[in-house]
Amino acid sequence: MSQSLLDCAIIISNMTMEELLRQLVAYQTVEGDESKNAALKFIADYLSERGMHVEHFKENGYGALVATTIPGQKHPKVMLAAHVDVVSASLKSFTMRKKQGKFYGRGVFDMKFAIATFMRVVDRLQPTLSQYDFGIMITSDEEIGGVSGVKYLLDHGYGADVCLLPDGADDWHIEAQAKGGWNVRVSASGKSSHGSRPWEGESAADKIIDFMTATKREFPPSPDHTDTTVVLTGLQAGKSWNQVPGHAEATLDIRYLNGAYPDIRRRLRILAKTHDVSLHTNAHIEAVYQDMDSRHIYNWERVVKSVRGETMNEYTLSFGASDARFLVAQGIPTIVTRPKGGGHHGENEWIDEAELDQFEACVQQYIQAVAKTTQPTTVDQPTKTRYNTTKLPETATS
Ligand SMILES: [Zn+2]
Repeated sequence: MSQSLLDCAIIISNMTMEELLRQLVAYQTVEGDESKNAALKFIADYLSERGMHVEHFKENGYGALVATTIPGQKHPKVMLAAHVDVVSASLKSFTMRKKQGKFYGRGVFDMKFAIATFMRVVDRLQPTLSQYDFGIMITSDEEIGGVSGVKYLLDHGYGADVCLLPDGADDWHIEAQAKGGWNVRVSASGKSSHGSRPWEGESAADKIIDFMTATKREFPPSPDHTDTTVVLTGLQAGKSWNQVPGHAEATLDIRYLNGAYPDIRRRLRILAKTHDVSLHTNAHIEAVYQDMDSRHIYNWERVVKSVRGETMNEYTLSFGASDARFLVAQGIPTIVTRPKGGGHHGENEWIDEAELDQFEACVQQYIQAVAKTTQPTTVDQPTKTRYNTTKLPETATS
């Protein structure tokens, strides 16, 4: 073994949370970068060194790993899930900085802190790992949809009694709902003519404008943003400055709550017919709605209370989507929560250091409370539903 590899092995075995997170941030795990594979290898080596059984996957070029305490276990009592990919950022964002009790850097909050946490928990439980039945699922395509990661693994038999996915719902709240999304391409055809003789043509651009005006009237914004939102995210028409456009296209990003999709589709189709435009689905993401009266939520809240002395008073709605939609669609209760942090997808992404330590304690205690192999699945008193739609902290992922 060369000296540098030896150094690496020593560092791996003694890494603090700060060092671990700094190392994970340093991998530039953006779309198309080989660093994703290097990061997955680092995580896999760390986990297998501590006795976890690691399986590797690659779908459409996107790597993933599942590490379990029991070899070949596809359905552990608890699955800890996270994605290693991040959205692009300036080069300096991949060097983690610490300032006034906060860590700054790309991915510290979305969501490499969770990977570092899971690794630390395995390290701490290492002497007794065989007493537990839990897994760690790390994928690398969440920011571009998750189809080759979490969805692929679920389609290939992976599951869990409960999944912890710290990828939404800020400040220890728990996500009860996440909006779904419908991305629509709108196209219009007309008849091109010379710009000096518009009466001889039929403007496709005008059709799009009229359709958009009617659509904005049909889906007005709600004060707390909990209702359907429609926004124009793309617009293209005209080949020449003196020609009436014979073809025009627009893109709409529509976000909605669970159950609203069929009605939105029906209303938009009526508007499309009225204004002579065609609709084509670019992408469709299911909305998430979870039962908050479950023992899984109760068990997690009990642990959070013992570590922090309090739990948050209401559940939340996420405006963006995460891999939770695939897990929930498979009937897997998914706890989406995280400690204090912010700036994800922005230049100043951060996480609070003290709260990150608390989060690590919570995950460790949660595993110790619910993932023992000898432990029968306990049925605890569920919490009362405290979902409050009047106060919804903003979260957004994809
Ligand atoms: Zn994320």
